[in-house]
Order: sequence, then structure tokens, then C-alpha cells
Amino acid sequence: MKTTKRITRAYCVELEKELTIVAARREYLSLEPPRARFTFLCTNEECRKLDAKITGVNYDLNPQETPILQAAHFRANPKDEHCSTCEWIEHGSSGDLDRSRPGETEEEAKVRQAKRKLDDYIDIFDPNLKEKKPGGDRPGKGGDEIDGDGQGRGVRRASGESNDKPRGPTKTTDLERLVESYRNAKSELSKEEFDLLTLQVSGYGVIPLHSYFRHITAANIGENSGVLFGGGTIKRYGAGFSFSFYDPVGEKRVSLYVPADQMNAYRFRRYLTELIIQAEEVRYVTLYTLGYLEENPQGKGIDLKVEDLRQIAFVLGPPKTITETS
Ligand SMILES: [Zn+2]
Repeated sequence: MKTTKRITRAYCVELEKELTIVAARREYLSLEPPRARFTFLCTNEECRKLDAKITGVNYDLNPQETPILQAAHFRANPKDEHCSTCEWIEHGSSGDLDRSRPGETEEEAKVRQAKRKLDDYIDIFDPNLKEKKPGGDRPGKGGDEIDGDGQGRGVRRASGESNDKPRGPTKTTDLERLVESYRNAKSELSKEEFDLLTLQVSGYGVIPLHSYFRHITAANIGENSGVLFGGGTIKRYGAGFSFSFYDPVGEKRVSLYVPADQMNAYRFRRYLTELIIQAEEVRYVTLYTLGYLEENPQGKGIDLKVEDLRQIAFVLGPPKTITETS
């Protein structure tokens, strides 16, 4: 059988685990160059026996705003056969996906149709850091839950699992994945469709997706119960770096300082470092963060504080023009 759904996770042969495309990108860009591309197969073990390949698109590039490149995503190989229990085959629908289903309101049908247009869609986001180690965890066991997709599965050995039953909502703890899905929704959907999307935030409730993202100019001192974002510039300080938002809060400049120690303790430091180096080639960088704001004790504006580097996600802006780089 052929897949009919958007593929949001795939099994990585080299890493022997299931990954989202965002996690695959972090893993890939954390490898020492020269890098060999990953081989992806279906998440279903039975499909893997049929050698059902999945293609990872653009996961070898840093997250960036570009109208030319498609966002990183997975795609099923159109020739490959999947078994009938594959989770990426839609069951129970008679092919007409645009019609309302029994018991579904018109609005629910609209939301379902909007979600189908997206590469990945997050239903539940858990912003809480499960493990409070500075900078994040070390490679090896136990890392899956933290930087994985938060599907809550024993990703390494998911044997004997039937995928016949419909999966529950998509839940993640991965800020980068949430950001990617938000950006994708914003660019792919009409405003009306986008405004229908909701997000369940663990420990908080269900809110419109757009209301979970707040531009830095609308931020408050302290916690903001959501993702703050805004454009700015990065400066490197040895292994560490700083980021300054262009737009102030009130009259005050907001900046983040990440010392070398925090960077060195972060599992995906190579990925983050490369992103920071590449930031020099672009006009601006957008930072998305779950951090909180504090008045600088020396009166130098406002500090953005992050307990953990998993609470930030950078997206590179468009490249500088030739005159700007020279
Ligand atoms: Zn499959």
C-alpha cells in the first residue's frame, strides 16, 4: 500500500531510532564534517522489512527563512510499498478527505483540512524542562525523550507495536519543532485557517496557536507564558555568544548572553555553533525563546535569561547582498 498521510517521523538507520525532521537536522548538523546523509525508513517495523524508504528533505541545512527552499520535511518514496498496519496510511476514510465526517462540526472539519496541508502539526506542547542540567544532556542513553519528539515511546526498540489504531495527538517538548510547525502553518495556510489552529500547552490549557507566540516588543518583565520572538544580531565571544533584539521593550534593549560554559555543556553545541557562524552571512536572525526577562542589575537594558539552551531556537534570515558582505 502507499502512504496517504504527511510523514512526521522516520526511522533513522544510522542512529537506530525514530526522529522528527527537526531532531534529524540537529543530529545531522552535530556530526563532525564531512557528513554522510542519513538513511530513513518507515517507522513501522513491518514496512522496514519491505524496505519502505523515507526521504529526508533539507534536513542538512540550518533552519532559515527562504522562499526558495522548502522547509525540512519527510517524504515517502512514491514507489515503495507499506504494509496495511502502517501509521502513515489513512484508515476508515473512503478517500474523500474534504467532506465533513460524522459527528464533526464545520469548524472541526476546517481545522482537520488545514492540518492536512502542513508538514508537521503539534497538538500539545510541553514547555517544562524534564531534566534540569545546565545546557542539556550528554549524548547516549536517556537523550531521546529530551531532544526527541516527545512521543513518549521507547524509540530505540518499538517492536511488535501495531500501528493499526489511530494515534493520539502529537505531543512534543521540542521548541524547535514547535517553531518549525508554527512557521510552516503561517506560510502555508490562509489567515482564516491559521487563526483556527489551537495549541494545548501542558499545565496551562488550550489556546489559539498564534497567541502562544509573542513579539518581543509586547513582552513583559518576568515570565511570559509563551514563546517570545524577534529579529536581532548575534555576536560571538569565544565558544559563547550574545544575541541582541533589534526592537526594545519599552525603551530598553533586550539581550541574551550565553557563556562558553553553558555552550560547552550543550549536547548540540556543534549545531548551534555552526548556526551562529552562519548568522554572519545573513541580514538578521530571528530568535524564538521560552526564556524570561529581567532588568539588568547594572542598568544595561533587559537581560533575556534561559535556563537551558533547549529554550532557544534560531532561524536564519535572508542572505546579505554582495555589497553588505564586502
Ligand atoms: Zn510504512
